[in-house]
Amino acid sequence: MSVWWGITALLIVLLAVRFYQYRQKKKELELQISENMRLQRKLSNTRRDLAELNARRKKLLAASTQGLIIVERDGRISSANKVAKRIFGKFHKEETTLMRWTRQHQLHELVEQTLAGEKMPAIYFNAGEKVLEAHARSIKESHEIVAVALAISNVTELQKLSQSRRYFVTNISHELRTPLASLQLLTETLLNGALDDKEMAPQLVGKMAAQVDTLSQLAQEVLDLSLIESGRAPMKMASFPLNDIAQTQIDRLSLQAERKNLSLKVEIPPEIAVLVDQAMINRVFTNLVHNAIKFTEKGGVTVSAQIPNGKTVFGSREVEPGWIVVGVSDTGIGISKEDLPRIFERFYKVDRARSVGQEAGTGLGLAIAKYIVEAHGGEIWAEGNGRAKGTTFYFTLPTDEIVE
Ligand code: ATP
Ligand code: MG
Repeated sequence: MSVWWGITALLIVLLAVRFYQYRQKKKELELQISENMRLQRKLSNTRRDLAELNARRKKLLAASTQGLIIVERDGRISSANKVAKRIFGKFHKEETTLMRWTRQHQLHELVEQTLAGEKMPAIYFNAGEKVLEAHARSIKESHEIVAVALAISNVTELQKLSQSRRYFVTNISHELRTPLASLQLLTETLLNGALDDKEMAPQLVGKMAAQVDTLSQLAQEVLDLSLIESGRAPMKMASFPLNDIAQTQIDRLSLQAERKNLSLKVEIPPEIAVLVDQAMINRVFTNLVHNAIKFTEKGGVTVSAQIPNGKTVFGSREVEPGWIVVGVSDTGIGISKEDLPRIFERFYKVDRARSVGQEAGTGLGLAIAKYIVEAHGGEIWAEGNGRAKGTTFYFTLPTDEIVE
């Protein structure tokens, strides 16, 4: 009997131990499950953060105005934004290396040197018509350079601007030097005795006054140009009868035309009204008519205006309704086909030697006229009137009428 009791007691103890073990295992399992769930939650959070980060990275790459490229150590491209693809064309990620894609040896060199740990300055290179600037930065993982990030900017316009600035300064210095040299010479002649010469002294002083005029005209034109160009010249738009504007400006030049025996006609229908900044448009008329008188020896100058009837052709251009076309036509020396597209450039003069003397201009008048007309939304261009028959300058101005 006691044996049975002994066995039963043993069994109970064993069962109790198993039960205790089972409880322990269950607890462990529950702990593991809850740990697993916590990790899973963390993982899905991290995944979401990563996806968000990736989406932001893509947006950042797409929003950049620079071309952005990441080149891996083996030369493969792992990332390139739209701007970069616009610059160098499409590419297949898997098979393309930077060199094969861009065909830019300098860029390849820049990446190689950056991978080698060198801190490289920006490089400039040409791609077709474009001038590009590239910066490179190394990307490190545990202190090892694993890739290179390239930022590429199109600096074509910037380069053109700085070049035109250089031309501008060179041209201004040149334009200043000529009248200043004349003034110096005239002053020296006066000081060396001509001052006492009753006949010569007034002549020399007259010449000095002409040179001072040239200098002040240059100063005024440079100032006007920079003001109009910078957009700081506020435009006061109002409706004006075109005939009145043209007539007033032309009257001021009639003496010069008379002196050269040139006719000066205005053929503008009185009903034409334009929406313009009058002071600015005055300058366009003055310069075009003054040029026409300057470069004409026989015949004369006619200023006319027309309202396009539907799409109408003036010289080589079509003008839409809504614009008034003004023509300033002369019977002068004309402008060659090669020079026609260049005369609106700052300081451009067809024949420098020819325009020396009293009629010398600075070559800025047409550049200013172009800025003014374009600031009104219009166009300006010149056409030859046929062999040695003078020139016609056309420009368009917004009409004050509402066109259906
Ligand atoms: P500015 O007007 O600054 O006093 P400019 O008259 O020489 O100087 P623009 O009015 O810009 O300068 O003209 C540029 C050049 O175009 C002139 O120097 C001249 O060679 C040429 N040109 C302009 N108008 C005529 C014209 N009607 N006939 C022939 N050549 C012209
Ligand atoms: Mg001029």
